[in-house]
Amino acid sequence: MKWWGWGVDGVAFSHDDKPSLAPFVQKVIDVDLNAPAVAPLAFEELDVPASQLSEDLEKALSGVLGAEYVVSTDLDRVVHAFGKSLRDLVRIRASDLRRIPDVVVYPANEEQIVAVLDAVVAADAVLIPFGGGSNIAGSLEAPADETRQVVSLDLGRLNKVLAIDEESGLAQIQAGALGPDLEQQLGERGWTLGHFPDSFTHSSLGGWIATRSSGMQSDKYGDIADITKALRVVQPGRTLATRAVPVTSTGPSVREMILGSEGRLGVITEATVQVHRKPAKRVVLGYFFPDWKRGVAAMRAISASDATPSITRISDARETAFSFATRKSSKGFSKFMSSALIAVLKKRGWDLDQMCLSFIGYEGSEEHVARQRKLVKKIVSDHGGIGVGEGPGALYDQKKFDTPYIRDFLLDRGALADVSETSAAWSKLMPLYDTTVERANKAFAQLGVKGYIMCHLSHSYHSGACLYFTFAFKAGEGDPIAQYDVVKSAVQQSFIDSAGTLSHHHAVGTEHSRWMGDDISEAGVQMVSGIFSVVDPGRNLNPGKIV
Ligand code: FAD
Repeated sequence: MKWWGWGVDGVAFSHDDKPSLAPFVQKVIDVDLNAPAVAPLAFEELDVPASQLSEDLEKALSGVLGAEYVVSTDLDRVVHAFGKSLRDLVRIRASDLRRIPDVVVYPANEEQIVAVLDAVVAADAVLIPFGGGSNIAGSLEAPADETRQVVSLDLGRLNKVLAIDEESGLAQIQAGALGPDLEQQLGERGWTLGHFPDSFTHSSLGGWIATRSSGMQSDKYGDIADITKALRVVQPGRTLATRAVPVTSTGPSVREMILGSEGRLGVITEATVQVHRKPAKRVVLGYFFPDWKRGVAAMRAISASDATPSITRISDARETAFSFATRKSSKGFSKFMSSALIAVLKKRGWDLDQMCLSFIGYEGSEEHVARQRKLVKKIVSDHGGIGVGEGPGALYDQKKFDTPYIRDFLLDRGALADVSETSAAWSKLMPLYDTTVERANKAFAQLGVKGYIMCHLSHSYHSGACLYFTFAFKAGEGDPIAQYDVVKSAVQQSFIDSAGTLSHHHAVGTEHSRWMGDDISEAGVQMVSGIFSVVDPGRNLNPGKIV
């Protein structure tokens, strides 16, 4: 992963083949994509604080792991210091590094992790587990005023599928496996986990569990909380293990306590997860709805019906306009937004500025997919929508892991962009959407900037859905993070005021922790704090996150 942005070196977003994007961005946030870009600093220009690793701790860690797996180079320490939120990226580009880890360790197995944690606790140091480093909630950074030594524990060497119980559809997988690693190993035996977050290429099983992640096919496979059936977790002085059973009534769920614990309750070393046979057929179809309200109502009707699609997603009109603006000159959406189709929609009385693009995914046997498509077709049509076939869905499916590169491209050109997502009951969803758009627009006005907020519904449940907002604006004079805070806070406060949760799948970290009392009540905060202090009385495990 690049130290300054998303993904691998040499891969970047480009608008050269997307002729509508520059005019669109100029119009909505007043940023000129053709102006010269400001590249991030060279790594050598960063002002990297010296490591405070003591000789004693270094010796103890090297004794456990071997010296080559105890690394204090500047690059390793910087890469492990942050996640990938806008705040992280702006800070790292400005060389605002503060309390980065003093050392990064790379254990090979659980036994070594037990010994590393023993050494860390004995030295009264801090240990921060690191999966892929893709979180966007400030979950990895040590507190700025941390005076103890900080050890980042990278789980990358624990990347194996250990066993598959084929009769039960359960796989025992090491926590450091990144998405592509584990899907490849499962795929070789005909299985899939079915967990595909947008960050799939650079995030790990342990990170997904520690942040309660969701994937784009979670409507079918479940969120990681549903998928995870058992865990092994190394804690100070002990190892927690739960049983791989489908369901249990043995008291408050310890498994649930670990889900979303962001390293504060120990190092997850492996999990037993439910896996599925790779589906015979998989297709993502595109649909248009005349407006957001009818589109969302259709998603609700689908979730209440016998249809069980793997993806239910609809963009609001602003996000639909953005999707059209990113289309390539000769392929993709343009083919589907042909003049013939536009004529049909106009004839139906559609206001094309209000039109919303939706993707519905289907997986299973040929017959199952055919039946699902038929059920959904009727619901779409009852809500005034029309199907536009496989083209846009196939394009979305191919490009989904490239989208994250766009934020660095915008940042190079002076635009600040980030996301906030929530979930709420169906009855609260539309008011929450309206309030959030209104509050974001007020925040842009307060800053005196031209901003854009767009949204899609990304997951549907029986009782409600996830709304995922993306906002962008041109950075004004002064501190970009202070400007970002104005917009981000307005959006998060709107979630709280509108009966939503702080985050549907990006966790809490430090980014959302100040609203935790609103989200789970002060009694809830006390319970969580109590559990943390019993498991980790010395506050050695990733302190300062969640509560
Ligand atoms: P890290 O960032 O390395 O760590 C996150 C937290 O988990 C830290 O507190 C860390 O200490 C802890 N942790 C990591 N591994 C362990 C372990 N083994 N034991 C104990 N604690 C551990 N999230 C989604 O859910 N769905 C998405 O679609 C999605 N899309 C994204 C797109 C982009 C472009 C970006 C930047 C992020 C996205 N995210 C998404 C957020 C992020 O990918 C998730 O939060 C992911 O689950 C983090 O996993 P990771 O392995 O990168 O964890």
